[in-house]
Amino acid sequence: MRETPNWPDPAAHIARHHPDTALLYFCPSVLQATARRFRAGFPGLVTYAVKANPGEEVLANLVAAGVRAFDVASPREMYAVRAVCPDAVLHYNNPVRSPQEVAVARALGVASCSVDCRRELDKLSPLPRETEVSVRLALPVTGAAYDFGEKFGVGPERAAALLREVAVRGFVPALTFHPGTQCADPAAWGVYIAAAARVARAAGVTVARLNVGGGFAAHRCGPAPDLEAIFDHIAAQTARHFGDAAPRLVCEPGRAMAAEAFTLATRVKALRETGAIFLNDGIYGALTEARDIGAGDRIRVLRPDGHPRHGAPVDRTVFGPTCDSIDRLPDPLPLPSDMAEGDFVLFDGMGAYSRSLTTRFNGYGLGESVTVAALD
Ligand SMILES: *Cc1c(COP(=O)(O)O)cnc(C)c1O
Repeated sequence: MRETPNWPDPAAHIARHHPDTALLYFCPSVLQATARRFRAGFPGLVTYAVKANPGEEVLANLVAAGVRAFDVASPREMYAVRAVCPDAVLHYNNPVRSPQEVAVARALGVASCSVDCRRELDKLSPLPRETEVSVRLALPVTGAAYDFGEKFGVGPERAAALLREVAVRGFVPALTFHPGTQCADPAAWGVYIAAAARVARAAGVTVARLNVGGGFAAHRCGPAPDLEAIFDHIAAQTARHFGDAAPRLVCEPGRAMAAEAFTLATRVKALRETGAIFLNDGIYGALTEARDIGAGDRIRVLRPDGHPRHGAPVDRTVFGPTCDSIDRLPDPLPLPSDMAEGDFVLFDGMGAYSRSLTTRFNGYGLGESVTVAALD
């Protein structure tokens, strides 16, 4: 891994360097603590959904915290994982693949693949029969920030038929679902687990494993999500609905694993008479998701000397740096009345879907991450 200077916290780095390019501060101990929390609390195998943040330092610290299995969406993610952990177990759960991608999966010895239709199952025929193939179930479920079931998955009836076909073809049969990202409601998992048990019964197939997806909420606003309540609900509902035929469980958090370990630091380029501000990052950068799920409320403003602003909050329109009028946050943010040009606006809990979505539009985008001992 690249050597990065170690700073005690973002404020110390800001006070010294006044970074004029938006960047992420990374705290390895927070990431490892989150991984250990999942591994201690989740009643099954914890894998990491690489797409949330494929950074080399993220993968390396997860490996250091004992994570050995990864949910990968593409060959490039497979190679990225194996580069950091040569014996990593790969779960290839993007259910749409080209034949060339299947060939890479075969060459790399992918352990598990999800499918949501017969045509995609046909494409997996080059894979060895000890490969696990999990049928992706989709239900109309509420509780998440946005619904993943619109793009992937099959309803219960077709899922049962497909599961039977997986078993007939000699693959190891499994079921999977994804309740939708940023989901804080344990009941969303319960509804899916009950449906998965009915699908397995209807198919007459004993499933080896049930993959309960990612979707676990990160701390974006209000109190931190209660992950353990979700873990306990998953364990209880699996026992209740599957009884003696209870499958082993797998989860694949992306957001909830990566988010807390990074803080985004942006800088105020301009403060207008209206109170509106222009930041050096926006929806073409690390704040892309703000358009869909809001910016959250874990926001603080630091002076260039690293000290916090304490002025009474006023609602400010927040624009990004590009010459594009849609580059603004959807809602005004309550920010201190005494903030000034040159200040820094920090967004905590920004490790997921930030760096992996940032663009270089207009020549902006994130600079190199900075490693810190603590984030606050
Ligand atoms: C995106 C995705 C994940 C991770 O979802 P999060 O909401 O980030 O936890 C896990 N599994 C699959 C199949 C996905 O597509």
